[in-house]
Amino acid sequence: MSARSFTRVGIVGAGQLGRMMALAGIPLGLRCVFLDRGADSPGAAVAPILLGELEDARLLRDLASQSDVLTFDWENISAGALAPLAKRVVIRPPPAALEHSQDRLHEKTLFSRLKIPVTPHAAVDSRADLDRAVRKLGLPGVLKTRRLGYDGKGQVVLRDAAQLESAGALVGVGGLIYEKFQDFRLEVSIVGARAPDGRCALYPLSANTHSGGVLRYGIAPFHNAGLERRAAVYFKRVAAALDYVGVLAIEFFVVGGKLMANEMAPRVHNSGHWTIEGCATSQFENHMRAICGLPLGSTRALGHTAMVNFLGCMPDRDRLLAIDGLAYHDYGKEPRPGRKLGHCTILKPLAKQRDSALRNVLKLVHWR
Ligand code: AMP
Repeated sequence: MSARSFTRVGIVGAGQLGRMMALAGIPLGLRCVFLDRGADSPGAAVAPILLGELEDARLLRDLASQSDVLTFDWENISAGALAPLAKRVVIRPPPAALEHSQDRLHEKTLFSRLKIPVTPHAAVDSRADLDRAVRKLGLPGVLKTRRLGYDGKGQVVLRDAAQLESAGALVGVGGLIYEKFQDFRLEVSIVGARAPDGRCALYPLSANTHSGGVLRYGIAPFHNAGLERRAAVYFKRVAAALDYVGVLAIEFFVVGGKLMANEMAPRVHNSGHWTIEGCATSQFENHMRAICGLPLGSTRALGHTAMVNFLGCMPDRDRLLAIDGLAYHDYGKEPRPGRKLGHCTILKPLAKQRDSALRNVLKLVHWR
């Protein structure tokens, strides 16, 4: 073990992301402890869990005292909850990265400052702001909560003036952003890890298909050398500006052949799940390596993959397992409409084999 590497990892949130991180840590000799509300959280199957609220000051102190480094399955922890921990434990990714990603307006401001194109947008805190934003940016547009929105939650597409009235309820909540609707050809994401010394290991691009604001499936590597180069430049700009350590994901719309950043996630990301089977080192392992100060692993793709999410209900497992080259992931969560319950990944030597297997998988997966 090198002098500066860590072995005890505290993970705030024990969802599927935390579970896959902890699983990746086991062969590296790392020991994880979670903090989460439910004894039945996905992570509880693989590591001990402190039970309670994610921002509970006493439990966070307890988690910090059992850890060399703290990291996150859930990135919406407040700066106030993290501040007292900073002198007790190393926090990776850095709290500033969490803060930027928690607010869509701050996130877009950061992208713009770094000369990364973003959707034209305006802050909306009142009905008058909304009218002004719509006059300036036009319809259609997307009205989103600035904070705590994910998987299409807390957002509404406005297509005509009549809808402005019904959007009033959301406006009452305050802290919104109105974005011009992007007629994108494609959504892609870049996932990568940055080590404490600034070295980066970036995965190939993934092309992602969303519906209702939720990722349904993705294919990777998405071969487009121009977009990949650009995405890597943007990734490194963001990661360096935040002095980032760990895995970071940035999602982009592809508009007119150009990348437009939509949002970033200061953590491992659903669009990177394919790396478990599809790359020499998974995003989860590279996150653990980065935050523990271990050398980053190769992000080389091992073939052509597709990743399909299980949303709302689980598919017929046995029929999926009969598909050659398919890996099945059940997060062990209670089914609820729209909830991410698991995913599967297909790995094939050729893109056309992957595409044909993907068509078969999509016949067997039903989203609710
Ligand atoms: P978000 O929560 O910002 O990641 O949005 C979830 C999904 O909604 C995105 O992946 C897009 O498919 C869609 N979406 C979000 N913002 C826009 C936009 N400005 N224009 C068109 N589609 C959008």
